[in-house]
Amino acid sequence: MNDTTDADESRIADLIAGNHILANEGVLDGFGHISVRSVTNPRHFFMARSRAPGLVSRDDIMEFDERSAPVDQRGRKMYGERFIHGEVLAARSDVNAVVHSHSPEVLPFTVTKAPFKALIHMAAFLGDTAAPVFEIRDVLGDDNKMLVMENRTGAALAAVMGKRAVVLMRGHGMTVAAESVKLVVLRAIYTQLNARIEAAALRLGEPTFLNAFEVDRDDPVDRPWEVWAANAGEAP
Ligand SMILES: [Zn+2]
Repeated sequence: MNDTTDADESRIADLIAGNHILANEGVLDGFGHISVRSVTNPRHFFMARSRAPGLVSRDDIMEFDERSAPVDQRGRKMYGERFIHGEVLAARSDVNAVVHSHSPEVLPFTVTKAPFKALIHMAAFLGDTAAPVFEIRDVLGDDNKMLVMENRTGAALAAVMGKRAVVLMRGHGMTVAAESVKLVVLRAIYTQLNARIEAAALRLGEPTFLNAFEVDRDDPVDRPWEVWAANAGEAP
């Protein structure tokens, strides 16, 4: 049993579906994770125990506090990089959901000077200036483990992200933020697609990116969510 509200249970249902969708769409594999802020206690958030996203069920969902510490661990193994979620949610009152992925399509843009920007209209949220890139050596020095395993590194990542929807992480992956689970899932999927298309375009010539007017649009999330959920085997 749990003492969360119906509003939290609704967010958790989206969170579980989001885990399955991101696994099915190839954004998360055995690694990576998605979180959502608690309605009952907005300083807290929900995220699965350390488990492959495609297999996550209600029993796997844990609550974490604003330091990314578990509220009731009960021996469950936790994601080592949960601090990404805790620190982004703490820094961003406009954000309620976070995805961290090791998306292979995005990785080339984390290790080169090629600017990662909105190239397709469904990725307008990326903006018309290059996505920020988090360099973990700036926080932990040369002798680092490449992972965000403590609050200090998570806070540094959130600072580099600023108000952006996406921050790249050098040689590691990306972190995506949005006001809802559905929106963060859409953004994670279209960030990966933008990366695939930008890499293809760069091989052909100089891409024409979206301009400041063209990136000013809302993301229509309900229609794609419905088909992603169906494809992932979620009940309608
Ligand atoms: Zn990672």
